[in-house]
Amino acid sequence: MFDDSTESASKVNEGIEQPPSLNPALKRLKGKIKHHLTIDDFFNGIKNKNIAVLSRAITMIESALPEHHQIAQQIIEKCLPYSGKSIRIGITGVPGVGKSTFIETFGNYITSLGRTLAVLAIDPSSEISHGSILGDKTRMETLSVNQNAFIRPSPSSGSLGGVANKTRETIILCEAAGFNTIIIETVGVGQSETAVHSMVDFFLLLMLAGAGDELQGIKRGIMEMADAIAITKADGNNETKARQAGIEYQNALHLFPPAESGWIPKVVTCSATQNIGISQIWNLVKNYFDEMSDKGFVLHRRQLQSKFWMYETINESLKENFYQKPEIKKELMFFEELVLQGKMTPHSAAANLLKDYLK
Ligand code: GDP
Repeated sequence: MFDDSTESASKVNEGIEQPPSLNPALKRLKGKIKHHLTIDDFFNGIKNKNIAVLSRAITMIESALPEHHQIAQQIIEKCLPYSGKSIRIGITGVPGVGKSTFIETFGNYITSLGRTLAVLAIDPSSEISHGSILGDKTRMETLSVNQNAFIRPSPSSGSLGGVANKTRETIILCEAAGFNTIIIETVGVGQSETAVHSMVDFFLLLMLAGAGDELQGIKRGIMEMADAIAITKADGNNETKARQAGIEYQNALHLFPPAESGWIPKVVTCSATQNIGISQIWNLVKNYFDEMSDKGFVLHRRQLQSKFWMYETINESLKENFYQKPEIKKELMFFEELVLQGKMTPHSAAANLLKDYLK
């Protein structure tokens, strides 16, 4: 993206993969921004919807350098009063379910309504695969050249909690830059759905109509988090099967306890390649958002999320601080060996280590 290698203030830690920008608009803007940006430059650039500046600010968020972290926090603080004015949508589903195809069609539809869209991702596998979702330039080809859309691949370093936190902070910057719709994509294979669920207003689960027991292998917890389930690829020979699956999922959802908000999760079928059911899904999201905003539930959900992230950040920071301490690093192996040899209980080993940490 930007060659920042000569700039100390914007150098990135070795080994940190810089996510490529998929939007050619950035290339056009390249060279038009100064190498060194002050906090005010960042803030004004973001407020003026300068995508190149926004991207650079996100790079600061993603950097592992403490000085970048400080800069990022100052930018976020300044942007915070201008954030929050978007519909935040989480989208998950197993690899192959059709997430990127759906987001491309759905995203282009949303922007055709005059909205602006930022697509972010949380990909817990990206450290190994270097961004298996959103990192692949062949994905979302038309959306990536859409002037009203901004696509940013998953931060590729750190723990899931760390990556999710960076994405959450990126939402703030995108909202301050005026994007009024945010989509956060994640792969439905682990804990990342919970992380995404805890930063969005609406959580959409994409599912395939499969042969046999439709509910087999589906983690109940993920279904319970969904505000809607969309059965993908409801076209051609698959259409009837998709409709049938839809009925079965709807019945299954009735077995779950009702949400506090009173919302009953909806099940729909769609085809991203044939553009079927796409506008209905948007209407569903929009109706949900309007209804829940009126009832105060959007604010309530966001408040709970902020509280969750405060504690999450404390937990993460404490853990990181503990494991980074040189004396703890040294002692860990020693106590681990004692535990392995059965000479000390795990509890005493942990108690000893914590005592030394707190000394
Ligand atoms: P992801 O891994 O969840 O992002 O899935 P992709 O969007 O990459 O889609 C996986 C495969 O399913 C690709 O070969 C797509 O062409 C295909 N696919 C996606 N959406 C549809 C659809 O609506 N109908 C049909 N028939 N195929 C689809």
